[in-house]
Amino acid sequence: MVSRKLSILMVIVLMTVAVLSACKPAAETEVPVVETEPPAEATEAPEPTEEPVVITDTELNVLCTPQEQWCQGMKQEFEALYGITVNYVRMSSGESLARIQAEKDNPQFDIWWGGPIDSFVAAKGEGLLEAYDSPNYANLIDPVKYKDPDNYWVGIYVGTLGFATNTDWLAANPGVAAPTSWDDLLKPEFTGQVMVAHPSSSGTSYTALATILQIRGEEAGWEYLKQYAAQMSQYTKSGAAPAKFVGQGEAAVAIVFSHDIVNEIENNNLPLVLTFPEEGTGYEIGGMGLIKGAAHMQAAKLWFDWALTPEAQALGPVYAAYQAPTVTGVELSHPELLEVNLIDYDFQWAGEHKKEFVDKFTNEIAGAENLK
Ligand code: PLP
Repeated sequence: MVSRKLSILMVIVLMTVAVLSACKPAAETEVPVVETEPPAEATEAPEPTEEPVVITDTELNVLCTPQEQWCQGMKQEFEALYGITVNYVRMSSGESLARIQAEKDNPQFDIWWGGPIDSFVAAKGEGLLEAYDSPNYANLIDPVKYKDPDNYWVGIYVGTLGFATNTDWLAANPGVAAPTSWDDLLKPEFTGQVMVAHPSSSGTSYTALATILQIRGEEAGWEYLKQYAAQMSQYTKSGAAPAKFVGQGEAAVAIVFSHDIVNEIENNNLPLVLTFPEEGTGYEIGGMGLIKGAAHMQAAKLWFDWALTPEAQALGPVYAAYQAPTVTGVELSHPELLEVNLIDYDFQWAGEHKKEFVDKFTNEIAGAENLK
Protein backbone atom coordinates (compact mmCIF):
# COMPACT_ATOMS: atom_id res chain seq x y z
CA MET A 1 0.00 0.00 0.00
CA VAL A 2 2.74 2.36 1.07
CA SER A 3 4.94 1.33 -1.82
CA ARG A 4 2.06 1.79 -4.27
CA LYS A 5 1.45 5.29 -2.89
CA LEU A 6 5.18 5.91 -3.12
CA SER A 7 5.26 4.74 -6.74
CA ILE A 8 2.43 7.09 -7.64
CA LEU A 9 4.17 9.96 -5.89
CA MET A 10 7.46 9.15 -7.64
CA VAL A 11 5.68 9.16 -11.01
CA ILE A 12 4.23 12.59 -10.15
CA VAL A 13 7.64 13.86 -9.04
CA LEU A 14 9.31 12.53 -12.20
CA MET A 15 6.62 14.10 -14.38
CA THR A 16 7.03 17.40 -12.53
CA VAL A 17 10.80 17.23 -13.04
CA ALA A 18 10.31 16.47 -16.75
CA VAL A 19 7.93 19.42 -17.17
CA LEU A 20 10.19 21.74 -15.18
CA SER A 21 13.29 20.73 -17.16
CA ALA A 22 11.45 21.34 -20.44
CA CYS A 23 10.47 24.86 -19.30
CA LYS A 24 13.42 26.02 -17.23
CA PRO A 25 16.18 28.28 -18.53
CA ALA A 26 19.39 26.51 -19.57
CA ALA A 27 21.22 27.98 -16.60
CA GLU A 28 19.35 25.90 -14.04
CA THR A 29 20.38 22.45 -12.98
CA GLU A 30 18.35 19.70 -11.41
CA VAL A 31 19.49 18.33 -8.11
CA PRO A 32 21.25 15.00 -8.70
CA VAL A 33 19.61 11.73 -7.77
CA VAL A 34 21.52 10.66 -4.68
CA GLU A 35 21.55 6.92 -4.42
CA THR A 36 21.86 5.83 -0.85
CA GLU A 37 20.92 2.49 0.65
CA PRO A 38 18.07 2.67 3.17
CA PRO A 39 19.17 1.80 6.70
CA ALA A 40 18.88 -1.94 7.35
CA GLU A 41 16.18 -1.54 10.00
CA ALA A 42 13.93 0.68 7.88
CA THR A 43 10.74 -1.04 6.78
CA GLU A 44 8.89 1.84 5.16
CA ALA A 45 10.30 4.45 2.80
CA PRO A 46 9.49 8.02 3.89
CA GLU A 47 6.92 9.71 1.73
CA PRO A 48 8.27 12.57 -0.35
CA THR A 49 6.85 15.83 0.96
CA GLU A 50 8.74 18.53 -0.97
CA GLU A 51 9.03 19.60 -4.59
CA PRO A 52 12.41 18.75 -6.14
CA VAL A 53 14.95 21.51 -5.50
CA VAL A 54 16.12 23.39 -8.57
CA ILE A 55 19.75 24.51 -8.53
CA THR A 56 20.07 28.06 -9.82
CA ASP A 57 23.86 28.40 -9.45
CA THR A 58 25.52 28.43 -12.85
CA GLU A 59 29.11 28.40 -11.64
CA LEU A 60 31.26 27.04 -8.86
CA ASN A 61 34.60 28.29 -7.56
CA VAL A 62 36.77 25.45 -6.29
CA LEU A 63 39.92 25.86 -4.25
CA CYS A 64 41.76 22.78 -5.44
CA THR A 65 44.75 21.41 -3.52
CA PRO A 66 45.63 18.10 -5.21
CA GLN A 67 47.74 18.00 -8.35
CA GLU A 68 46.74 20.09 -11.36
CA GLN A 69 45.84 17.12 -13.56
CA TRP A 70 43.27 15.81 -11.10
CA CYS A 71 41.81 19.30 -10.50
CA GLN A 72 41.38 19.78 -14.24
CA GLY A 73 39.87 16.31 -14.69
CA MET A 74 37.36 16.78 -11.88
CA LYS A 75 36.37 20.16 -13.25
CA GLN A 76 35.60 18.67 -16.64
CA GLU A 77 33.75 15.68 -15.19
CA PHE A 78 31.57 17.87 -12.97
CA GLU A 79 30.79 20.31 -15.77
CA ALA A 80 29.79 17.46 -18.08
CA LEU A 81 27.50 15.96 -15.43
CA TYR A 82 25.81 19.06 -14.09
CA GLY A 83 26.24 21.81 -16.68
CA ILE A 84 27.72 24.14 -14.05
CA THR A 85 30.91 26.01 -14.96
CA VAL A 86 33.76 25.21 -12.58
CA ASN A 87 36.50 27.76 -12.00
CA TYR A 88 39.35 26.39 -9.95
CA VAL A 89 42.65 27.59 -8.60
CA ARG A 90 45.30 25.05 -7.61
CA MET A 91 47.07 25.99 -4.39
CA SER A 92 49.03 24.08 -1.76
CA SER A 93 47.41 23.53 1.65
CA GLY A 94 49.11 26.31 3.61
CA GLU A 95 48.53 28.81 0.83
CA SER A 96 44.88 27.75 0.63
CA LEU A 97 44.36 28.23 4.34
CA ALA A 98 46.00 31.66 4.20
CA ARG A 99 43.78 32.60 1.26
CA ILE A 100 40.58 31.55 3.00
CA GLN A 101 41.64 33.44 6.12
CA ALA A 102 42.31 36.57 4.07
CA GLU A 103 38.96 36.31 2.29
CA LYS A 104 36.96 35.55 5.41
CA ASP A 105 34.67 38.56 5.01
CA ASN A 106 34.35 38.24 1.25
CA PRO A 107 34.90 34.61 0.25
CA GLN A 108 35.87 34.05 -3.37
CA PHE A 109 35.77 30.26 -3.23
CA ASP A 110 32.75 28.05 -2.60
CA ILE A 111 34.39 24.76 -1.76
CA TRP A 112 37.87 23.57 -0.78
CA TRP A 113 38.70 20.17 -2.22
CA GLY A 114 41.84 18.25 -1.29
CA GLY A 115 44.89 18.53 0.91
CA PRO A 116 45.49 16.97 4.33
CA ILE A 117 42.68 17.53 6.85
CA ASP A 118 45.06 19.07 9.38
CA SER A 119 44.40 22.34 7.53
CA PHE A 120 40.64 21.75 7.55
CA VAL A 121 40.76 21.15 11.31
CA ALA A 122 42.59 24.49 11.62
CA ALA A 123 40.05 26.19 9.31
CA LYS A 124 37.13 24.81 11.31
CA GLY A 125 38.73 26.18 14.47
CA GLU A 126 38.83 29.64 12.90
CA GLY A 127 35.19 29.54 11.80
CA LEU A 128 36.05 29.48 8.08
CA LEU A 129 33.98 26.45 7.07
CA GLU A 130 30.27 25.75 6.79
CA ALA A 131 28.88 22.54 8.30
CA TYR A 132 27.00 20.26 5.93
CA ASP A 133 25.18 17.01 6.59
CA SER A 134 25.63 15.26 3.24
CA PRO A 135 23.37 12.31 2.47
CA ASN A 136 26.45 10.62 1.00
CA TYR A 137 28.24 10.32 4.34
CA ALA A 138 26.51 6.93 4.23
CA ASN A 139 29.09 5.93 1.58
CA LEU A 140 32.12 6.45 3.83
CA ILE A 141 34.18 3.38 4.66
CA ASP A 142 34.79 4.66 8.19
CA PRO A 143 32.53 7.62 9.07
CA VAL A 144 34.11 8.10 12.51
CA LYS A 145 37.60 8.49 11.07
CA TYR A 146 36.81 10.14 7.76
CA LYS A 147 34.38 12.84 8.88
CA ASP A 148 34.38 15.73 11.29
CA PRO A 149 31.90 14.92 14.10
CA ASP A 150 30.31 18.34 13.52
CA ASN A 151 30.26 17.94 9.71
CA TYR A 152 32.71 20.77 8.89
CA TRP A 153 34.98 18.56 6.77
CA VAL A 154 35.03 15.10 5.26
CA GLY A 155 37.78 12.85 3.90
CA ILE A 156 37.92 12.26 0.17
CA TYR A 157 41.15 10.22 -0.09
CA VAL A 158 43.93 8.67 1.97
CA GLY A 159 47.66 8.68 1.24
CA THR A 160 50.83 7.59 3.03
CA LEU A 161 54.16 9.42 3.28
CA GLY A 162 57.16 7.78 1.66
CA PHE A 163 60.71 8.43 0.48
CA ALA A 164 61.69 8.65 -3.20
CA THR A 165 65.36 8.01 -3.95
CA ASN A 166 66.99 8.59 -7.32
CA THR A 167 68.25 5.23 -8.59
CA ASP A 168 70.93 6.84 -10.79
CA TRP A 169 72.28 8.59 -7.69
CA LEU A 170 72.27 5.26 -5.81
CA ALA A 171 74.16 3.63 -8.69
CA ALA A 172 76.72 6.43 -8.56
CA ASN A 173 77.09 6.02 -4.78
CA PRO A 174 77.74 2.31 -4.24
CA GLY A 175 77.24 1.20 -0.67
CA VAL A 176 74.51 3.74 -0.01
CA ALA A 177 71.01 2.30 0.31
CA ALA A 178 67.70 4.08 -0.08
CA PRO A 179 66.50 5.26 3.38
CA THR A 180 64.19 2.95 5.30
CA SER A 181 63.96 4.95 8.53
CA TRP A 182 63.71 8.58 9.59
CA ASP A 183 67.19 8.20 11.11
CA ASP A 184 68.60 7.16 7.73
CA LEU A 185 67.83 10.66 6.44
CA LEU A 186 70.38 12.04 8.91
CA LYS A 187 73.26 9.93 7.55
CA PRO A 188 76.24 11.97 6.32
CA GLU A 189 75.84 10.65 2.77
CA PHE A 190 72.49 12.42 2.55
CA THR A 191 73.71 15.81 3.79
CA GLY A 192 72.48 18.42 1.33
CA GLN A 193 70.71 15.66 -0.61
CA VAL A 194 67.20 15.62 0.90
CA MET A 195 64.26 17.57 -0.48
CA VAL A 196 60.89 18.30 1.07
CA ALA A 197 58.39 21.13 0.76
CA HIS A 198 58.21 23.84 3.40
CA PRO A 199 55.51 23.18 6.04
CA SER A 200 54.21 26.75 5.79
CA SER A 201 53.01 26.21 2.23
CA SER A 202 52.62 22.46 1.99
CA GLY A 203 50.30 20.00 3.69
CA THR A 204 52.60 17.15 2.67
CA SER A 205 55.49 18.72 4.52
CA TYR A 206 53.35 19.54 7.55
CA THR A 207 52.27 15.88 7.64
CA ALA A 208 55.98 14.91 7.76
CA LEU A 209 56.66 17.42 10.54
CA ALA A 210 53.67 16.29 12.63
CA THR A 211 54.58 12.64 12.01
CA ILE A 212 58.06 13.18 13.45
CA LEU A 213 56.69 15.00 16.49
CA GLN A 214 54.23 12.16 17.09
CA ILE A 215 56.81 9.38 16.68
CA ARG A 216 59.47 11.01 18.85
CA GLY A 217 57.53 13.25 21.20
CA GLU A 218 57.80 17.02 21.00
CA GLU A 219 61.17 17.55 22.66
CA ALA A 220 63.11 14.87 20.78
CA GLY A 221 61.05 15.60 17.67
CA TRP A 222 62.14 19.24 17.47
CA GLU A 223 65.75 18.15 18.02
CA TYR A 224 65.39 15.73 15.14
CA LEU A 225 63.81 18.42 12.95
CA LYS A 226 66.86 20.66 13.45
CA GLN A 227 69.13 17.89 12.20
CA TYR A 228 66.69 17.04 9.39
CA ALA A 229 66.74 20.69 8.28
CA ALA A 230 70.53 20.54 8.08
CA GLN A 231 70.22 17.72 5.53
CA MET A 232 68.07 19.70 3.12
CA SER A 233 69.10 20.64 -0.35
CA GLN A 234 66.21 23.09 -0.76
CA TYR A 235 62.59 23.51 0.31
CA THR A 236 59.84 23.60 -2.29
CA LYS A 237 56.45 25.31 -2.16
CA SER A 238 54.39 22.36 -3.39
CA GLY A 239 54.40 19.03 -1.56
CA ALA A 240 54.66 16.81 -4.62
CA ALA A 241 57.43 18.82 -6.34
CA PRO A 242 60.43 17.20 -4.56
CA ALA A 243 59.69 13.81 -6.21
CA LYS A 244 59.99 15.47 -9.61
CA PHE A 245 63.17 17.38 -8.72
CA VAL A 246 64.81 14.31 -7.21
CA GLY A 247 63.78 12.29 -10.25
CA GLN A 248 65.54 14.90 -12.38
CA GLY A 249 68.72 14.51 -10.29
CA GLU A 250 68.61 17.72 -8.24
CA ALA A 251 68.98 15.81 -4.97
CA ALA A 252 69.03 12.18 -3.82
CA VAL A 253 65.94 11.73 -1.63
CA ALA A 254 62.48 13.31 -1.52
CA ILE A 255 59.94 13.11 1.28
CA VAL A 256 56.61 13.01 -0.51
CA PHE A 257 53.27 11.23 -0.42
CA SER A 258 53.77 7.76 -1.87
CA HIS A 259 51.03 8.15 -4.51
CA ASP A 260 52.95 11.11 -5.95
CA ILE A 261 56.08 8.97 -6.14
CA VAL A 262 54.11 6.26 -7.97
CA ASN A 263 52.90 8.90 -10.41
CA GLU A 264 56.46 10.03 -11.20
CA ILE A 265 57.65 6.43 -11.64
CA GLU A 266 54.71 5.08 -13.65
CA ASN A 267 53.68 8.07 -15.73
CA ASN A 268 56.83 10.16 -16.03
CA ASN A 269 59.37 7.32 -16.03
CA LEU A 270 61.58 9.06 -13.51
CA PRO A 271 64.38 6.91 -12.01
CA LEU A 272 63.01 6.65 -8.47
CA VAL A 273 62.62 3.92 -5.91
CA LEU A 274 59.90 4.15 -3.25
CA THR A 275 60.70 3.19 0.34
CA PHE A 276 58.98 3.76 3.69
CA PRO A 277 60.31 4.44 7.19
CA GLU A 278 59.97 1.08 8.90
CA GLU A 279 59.41 2.49 12.39
CA GLY A 280 56.25 4.10 11.08
CA THR A 281 55.08 6.69 8.63
CA GLY A 282 52.39 9.34 8.73
CA TYR A 283 49.46 9.57 6.40
CA GLU A 284 46.95 12.08 5.23
CA ILE A 285 43.23 12.07 4.96
CA GLY A 286 42.62 14.45 2.08
CA GLY A 287 39.79 16.76 3.06
CA MET A 288 36.87 18.71 1.61
CA GLY A 289 34.81 21.50 3.17
CA LEU A 290 32.33 24.22 2.22
CA ILE A 291 33.53 27.78 2.61
CA LYS A 292 31.46 29.79 5.05
CA GLY A 293 29.53 32.52 3.24
CA ALA A 294 30.10 30.93 -0.19
CA ALA A 295 28.24 32.65 -3.02
CA HIS A 296 27.36 29.39 -4.79
CA MET A 297 26.39 27.16 -1.92
CA GLN A 298 23.94 25.00 -3.88
CA ALA A 299 26.54 24.12 -6.48
CA ALA A 300 29.12 23.60 -3.75
CA LYS A 301 26.84 21.07 -2.02
CA LEU A 302 26.31 19.35 -5.36
CA TRP A 303 30.11 18.95 -5.73
CA PHE A 304 30.38 17.87 -2.08
CA ASP A 305 27.77 15.10 -2.53
CA TRP A 306 29.26 14.05 -5.86
CA ALA A 307 32.80 13.83 -4.48
CA LEU A 308 31.51 11.28 -1.96
CA THR A 309 30.20 8.89 -4.61
CA PRO A 310 32.15 5.83 -5.77
CA GLU A 311 31.84 7.10 -9.34
CA ALA A 312 33.66 10.37 -8.55
CA GLN A 313 36.33 8.72 -6.40
CA ALA A 314 36.97 6.06 -9.05
CA LEU A 315 38.08 8.91 -11.34
CA GLY A 316 41.31 9.45 -9.36
CA PRO A 317 43.52 6.98 -11.25
CA VAL A 318 42.07 8.22 -14.56
CA TYR A 319 43.81 11.51 -13.74
CA ALA A 320 46.99 9.97 -12.27
CA ALA A 321 45.84 10.33 -8.65
CA TYR A 322 46.58 7.09 -6.81
CA GLN A 323 45.34 7.98 -3.35
CA ALA A 324 43.06 5.43 -1.70
CA PRO A 325 39.32 6.21 -1.74
CA THR A 326 37.29 6.99 1.40
CA VAL A 327 34.01 5.53 0.12
CA THR A 328 32.96 1.95 -0.44
CA GLY A 329 32.66 0.43 -3.89
CA VAL A 330 35.93 1.72 -5.39
CA GLU A 331 38.79 -0.59 -6.29
CA LEU A 332 42.14 0.58 -4.93
CA SER A 333 44.63 1.33 -7.69
CA HIS A 334 47.63 0.74 -5.38
CA PRO A 335 46.62 -1.16 -2.24
CA GLU A 336 50.29 -1.73 -1.35
CA LEU A 337 50.66 1.97 -0.47
CA LEU A 338 48.46 1.39 2.58
CA GLU A 339 50.12 -1.90 3.56
CA VAL A 340 52.91 -0.21 5.47
CA ASN A 341 53.59 0.56 9.12
CA LEU A 342 51.34 3.56 9.77
CA ILE A 343 51.42 5.61 12.94
CA ASP A 344 48.15 6.39 14.68
CA TYR A 345 48.28 9.92 13.28
CA ASP A 346 46.34 12.37 15.45
CA PHE A 347 44.68 14.73 12.96
CA GLN A 348 42.90 16.74 15.62
CA TRP A 349 46.10 17.47 17.51
CA ALA A 350 48.04 18.15 14.32
CA GLY A 351 45.36 20.55 13.08
CA GLU A 352 44.98 22.39 16.36
CA HIS A 353 48.76 22.96 16.59
CA LYS A 354 49.34 23.74 12.93
CA LYS A 355 49.93 27.46 13.27
CA GLU A 356 52.12 27.06 16.35
CA PHE A 357 54.30 24.32 14.83
CA VAL A 358 54.64 25.99 11.43
CA ASP A 359 55.61 29.28 13.08
CA LYS A 360 58.16 27.50 15.26
CA PHE A 361 59.69 25.70 12.29
CA THR A 362 59.77 28.88 10.21
CA ASN A 363 61.17 31.11 12.95
CA GLU A 364 63.57 28.74 14.64
CA ILE A 365 64.63 26.21 12.01
CA ALA A 366 64.16 27.24 8.39
CA GLY A 367 62.52 30.33 6.92
CA ALA A 368 60.11 30.21 4.02
CA GLU A 369 62.00 32.54 1.67
CA ASN A 370 63.17 31.37 -1.76
CA LEU A 371 61.05 28.26 -1.95
CA LYS A 372 61.70 26.35 -5.14
N1 PLP B 1 49.06 16.91 -4.49
C1 PLP B 1 48.82 15.67 -4.19
C2 PLP B 1 48.87 14.65 -5.22
C3 PLP B 1 48.52 15.32 -2.89
O1 PLP B 1 48.30 14.07 -2.59
C4 PLP B 1 48.49 16.28 -1.92
C5 PLP B 1 48.07 15.96 -0.59
O2 PLP B 1 46.92 16.05 -0.26
C6 PLP B 1 48.78 17.56 -2.23
C7 PLP B 1 49.06 17.86 -3.54
C8 PLP B 1 48.83 18.59 -1.20
O3 PLP B 1 49.64 19.56 -1.65
P1 PLP B 1 50.66 20.35 -0.74
O4 PLP B 1 51.53 19.40 -0.02
O5 PLP B 1 51.40 21.14 -1.76
O6 PLP B 1 49.85 21.17 0.19
